[in-house]
Parts: sequence; structure tokens; C-alpha cells
Amino acid sequence: MTPENTSVLLIYTGGTIGMIENTETGALENFNFEQLQKHVPELQKFTFSIDTYQFDPPIDSSDMDPDAWRKLVHIISDNYEQYTGFVILHGTDTMAYTASALSFMLEGLGKPVILTGSQLPISVLRTDGKENLLTSIEIATACHPNGRPVVPEVCIFFENHLMRGNRTTKMNAENFNAFRSFNYPVLASAGIHIKYNNVQIHTDNIQQKLVPHYLLDTNIAVLKLFPGIQENIVAAVLAAKGLRALVLETYGSGNAPRKEWFLRQLKDACERGIIIVNVTQCSAGTVEMERYETGYRLMQAGVVCGYDSTTESAVTKLMFLLGHNYSLAEVRNRMSHPIAGEITVS
Ligand code: ASP
Repeated sequence: MTPENTSVLLIYTGGTIGMIENTETGALENFNFEQLQKHVPELQKFTFSIDTYQFDPPIDSSDMDPDAWRKLVHIISDNYEQYTGFVILHGTDTMAYTASALSFMLEGLGKPVILTGSQLPISVLRTDGKENLLTSIEIATACHPNGRPVVPEVCIFFENHLMRGNRTTKMNAENFNAFRSFNYPVLASAGIHIKYNNVQIHTDNIQQKLVPHYLLDTNIAVLKLFPGIQENIVAAVLAAKGLRALVLETYGSGNAPRKEWFLRQLKDACERGIIIVNVTQCSAGTVEMERYETGYRLMQAGVVCGYDSTTESAVTKLMFLLGHNYSLAEVRNRMSHPIAGEITVS
């Protein structure tokens, strides 16, 4: 159901969806938004208004950064009252990071913010971009009979599935089905009908006021363990100037080598005030540091449990919390509790 005063703000940041092949080099390059509209004449069939905002220049999402996230938060917050929902067209490569960051930066969000993109440019006959775009607009304007938005969350819609943004990972560089939410059920499936999974959708914020946040601290590193990792490498990462937090990608349910030097490096870093968060390298499942001795030792060294967090979510949540100058104890505590539905604490 779409009430009379429905309207959508479509924000085009860049990405494959709006790219065209350079005839000389064969590389994909951005083209402008008007051309995008030309390729999707179906946009005119919507009975409500769709306004647009274009990043100038549009960017490949490999160039996304906290400044661009701040810009998105500004655009949404400045136009918040005016629109029923927001659709962000974004490159797929870092879409899960942007969706995660926005979920923390848009506190109290009570309207849909749907990110989408495509694997094939919209100018290509077999593009997946059209379906993704049109269905995202429909989702961004979906309201319950009482007028409340059906999905007041930051989400990614891709290839028939609507997912909570901070639960997503890009897991396929080839298929149209590029994103998965491994640890949280999809919020909707689009077939002949769009079927919403209402019990999994957050509606707590509906009565709240939007509080936009802009402060992010990027002094973070990600370290992925592998058998044979050497002390000099771990030590160099932990000694990086300005480092405030490390996302440690461990094995299985949060396990790491028991070697003395490894635990000593982590313990020393924790004592120096560096926050180390344990997330698993596995796509699905959660960290349980008490399950095996190898995980338990990490806990004793001062490593924080990241539960079933994606790396994308852990990185952006740390940026957000550190940016807001919470005490060390507070950041550690908040990393183990959900603030935007990003983890399930078992
Ligand atoms: N490199 C592109 C980007 O992330 C890929 C895509 O859009 O799918 O901007």
C-alpha cells in the first residue's frame, strides 16, 4: 500500500549499475544518472515522485570511505522528513561496509534506507540492475495499513532478497546472487509477491527521532590468521602507530594458536589499550570463546568476543564507537552487545 504523499529519494553514488564500457579500453566507467533513467523507463510507471541525488563524480565503491558515509548521512538527515524512504545505488564491492556504517550512524532510523546495485551495468541487456532498482523502490515505500513503514532499517536488496545491511557480506563476484546474510534471516523475499518477514524486522525506532552521527575513527586494522603466521607480522600490526583496535579473524568458533609468543603479543596490546575483537573467518556461525581452550586463552589475554559479527560490521562499529570517544571499557562492552541488530549474543 502506498499512501498519497509517498516519495523516494534515490541517491546514486556510483558502481557497476551506472557504468558503461569504454569502447577503447573495454573498462567499465561511470556514466551519468540521466542516462541511467533512460535505461529504466519503468521508473516513470511509479505513481509517486522519485527525486534523485547524484554523487559528482560517481565513485567506484572501492573508493568509498568515511567521508562518503558522512555525506550519505547528511543527505538522508537533511531530507528525512520529506521522503517516505531512501534508495542508495552503490557499487557492490564495499556495499556491505557502507550498509553497516550507516546502520550505526543513523541512530533512531524509522524509515527504510535500501542499498542496491548490480553485477551487470544497467545498459546491458541481461542486467540485474533493473529488478534490483525497481524492487528496492517498492520496498522503500512499502507501508502497513496504519501508514508505518514496513522496513525501517538500513538494508541491502539484491537478487530477490532483502537483508539487514549490517549482517551482509559480498560473497560472489560472478553470480547475480552476490550477497548473503549468513547469520540472520532475510527480511523479505521478492517473487511474484514481496513477502516480508515481519518478526525479524526492527520496528523499535519508529517513534524515535533520527540522530545522525558523523564521528568515525579509522585507526583500525584487520588481521586474518593463517597457519604459519609469524610473530614479526603480528607484532608489526599491533605496533602500528595510532592503532586503536584490531579485528582478529580467527578460526572456527573463535580459535587461535596457543603459541606463547602469540598470546603474549595480544595480551601486551590489550594492556596498551588496543581493543582486539574476535570474529570468525567462517561465513556462518558465531564465536564462542569458552568452547575450546584455544579460544579461552584469547579471552584471558583480553580479547573481546565479536559473536556472529561480520568483519564489515565489526570494522565500522569500532570506527563509530572509537569516534565517539567512549571509554575503553565502554567500547569493549558495546562490541559485545547489539546496537543496530548487528550481532546475536548467545
Ligand atoms: N567495482 C564495482 C563497485 O563496487 C563493482 C560493482 O558495482 O558491482 O563499485
